Amino acid sequence: MMQQDELIKLVKAYDPRADEDALRRACDFSIKAHGKQLRASGEPYVSHPFEVAGILAGMKLDSASIITALLHDTVEDTLATLAEIKEQFGDEVAKLVDGVTKLSRLELQGDQTKQAENFRKLFIAMSEDIRVLLIKLADRLHNMRTLEFVEDPERRKRIALETMEIYAPLAERMGIHRMKDELEDLAFQYTNQEAREGIVARLSFLRTGSSEIIPRIIDELSKLFKENGLKASVTGREKTPYSIWTKMKRKNVTFEQLTDIMAFRAIVENVEQCYQALGIVHAKYHVIPGRFKDYISTPKPNGYRSIHTAIIGPENYRIEIQIRTPEMHEIAELGVAAHWAYKRSETATDGHQYRWLKEILDVLQHAQKPEEFLEHTKLELFQDQVFCFTPRGEIIALPRGACPVDFAYAVHSSIGDTCVGAKVNGRIVPLRTALQNGDQVEIITSKNQTPSPTWERFVVTGRAKSKIRRFARQQQLEQFAEVGWAMLHKIIKQEGVEFSEKMLESLLEQYKAKELKDIYATIGSGELSAREVFYKLYPEHKVIQPSAAVPQAPPKEGEKAKGFEPLPVKGLIRGMAVYYARCCHPLPGDKIVGIITTGKGVTVHTKGCATLANFADTPERWIDVSWEDKGRVDMQSYPARLSITIANTPGAIGNISNTISKANGNVTSLRVANREKEFFDVFLDVEVKSTEHLNDLMAVLRSASGVNSVSRVTGR
Ligand code: MN
Repeated sequence: MMQQDELIKLVKAYDPRADEDALRRACDFSIKAHGKQLRASGEPYVSHPFEVAGILAGMKLDSASIITALLHDTVEDTLATLAEIKEQFGDEVAKLVDGVTKLSRLELQGDQTKQAENFRKLFIAMSEDIRVLLIKLADRLHNMRTLEFVEDPERRKRIALETMEIYAPLAERMGIHRMKDELEDLAFQYTNQEAREGIVARLSFLRTGSSEIIPRIIDELSKLFKENGLKASVTGREKTPYSIWTKMKRKNVTFEQLTDIMAFRAIVENVEQCYQALGIVHAKYHVIPGRFKDYISTPKPNGYRSIHTAIIGPENYRIEIQIRTPEMHEIAELGVAAHWAYKRSETATDGHQYRWLKEILDVLQHAQKPEEFLEHTKLELFQDQVFCFTPRGEIIALPRGACPVDFAYAVHSSIGDTCVGAKVNGRIVPLRTALQNGDQVEIITSKNQTPSPTWERFVVTGRAKSKIRRFARQQQLEQFAEVGWAMLHKIIKQEGVEFSEKMLESLLEQYKAKELKDIYATIGSGELSAREVFYKLYPEHKVIQPSAAVPQAPPKEGEKAKGFEPLPVKGLIRGMAVYYARCCHPLPGDKIVGIITTGKGVTVHTKGCATLANFADTPERWIDVSWEDKGRVDMQSYPARLSITIANTPGAIGNISNTISKANGNVTSLRVANREKEFFDVFLDVEVKSTEHLNDLMAVLRSASGVNSVSRVTGR
């Protein structure tokens, strides 16, 4: 295991001004705190923080990071407290340790690989200082290097999968290729052991066939550059089994078809020499087409710069060559971590070397102000989001400021609707509490709970808002429906009619309603009158009972309702009762008008009837009516009144009666009004078919002997 002196020597080598005293105190603190704790490997636990510190020293990180690495598990796993660390090592280290501890707690929450992207975001969001992420990556790297000692195979596989899906991509995004490659290859052993073993076997077969290929090719390339007057340092390696595997999968090729099992690297002094080296290689060997990439003129988003080319090289091996400067190399290997390496050695502050860092932060941040990040080395990414856990470890991403009610609706609307309380990290909190990154949220529900309109004041997600509003609307609808039901049923009871809801269903379409409840609610809300709906159901009630309170008056004598016969009058509403006015005795052929009488029906008058003057100020009672055509009219007889003056002679009245009978009239009553010496006046009621019939009859009477005058009586 890494020893204290060895570690300090390593740090001092790249950072002579490092605080050796603080480093030693951190080593002692960690040794004391972890005491007799053991790793799964059987080693003292403290070997782990020392190794993590060593990995970070290899990346030339600052003292605060190295000290934090030494202390990173003390708060979570030992009796040591953050306050002690703050007291002994200061604010900066305490903050870093706190950050790493928070991330470690996150790891304990369930299965993250299902939502790897969210978990990565959460990690970044919770790492206020990018060094926290670097320490966490180094921590994971050492745990992966010692994963074989973890006994439970399921657990090994889960950790490996998590590494593949979360930590390796994080390392890649931060530009730390060396770490990304190693994490992936370590995880590969556990996620797909067979594939890896197959590739390893192939690789070793290749090696036995021609031992020492890599050193021989390095030699030949070095010699070539030297002959051309270029100082280059050439290295070579086999690609990792995992990168070979992904290439085989991606390009759908067999092992034999792969060109770049071996990768070589030439490091030259400056950019100009990079292109010089490329020219030398291309002049000597066959170039494999389509493999040339110039990441110097067009760097990768994470700041990576290099030239890539593939050739059929020495001894006809197909190889890949990367050409770059030492700075480019450091950035390629260390990514974000190189920032601290430069920070120390940098004296010229033109910021040129930081440009790549700006770029990577741009990529991570998707924002326009990377300067602030450089200033504080803080990762204020995903500031507009918080990531919380369900009790089962699922991640719920919410906008910043979201509360447990938002969380509940995000999980499921039924949970939101019935939510009565919430526990955050095991403690009951008010429903309006703003959630923090990494909070574990448990929603307490009750079947009897319904969404409260007051929630709308503090929820922030649109989903929660719309569900709460929808519920409020629904609730109001229920209330309106109850009121509407009561209103309609009151009328039904008053009218004493038979009613079933089936009848109301026939109106659904007309009122554009989905269900009966909607019709009741429309009545209850006042948009529709209950009586209107009632008339739609019982149209006949509308005519006879325009005002429900007035009872139907029986027809007076001589006013015979004719509603049961085919109606001779046009312009009436179906179901209307019709009466013929006694004052004017209208006859078919007369111009007529109808007068509506409340609680009774329509009385038909002749247009000349004097009685109509009584209705002059209620024009709404007048309706336009006229007689049906003759064919139907002929079937009925109508009373007409005549005033006749006849000579006072014996047998004169009998004579008139005979005359009328002959003319198909029917005398119904006769009254002598004035009897004088020579003449007397008679009022005579006759039944006739029409005015025409009456006129005929009158003409006959006038021609009869003894008749002095005949006139029709209309109006009083
Ligand atoms: Mn650890």
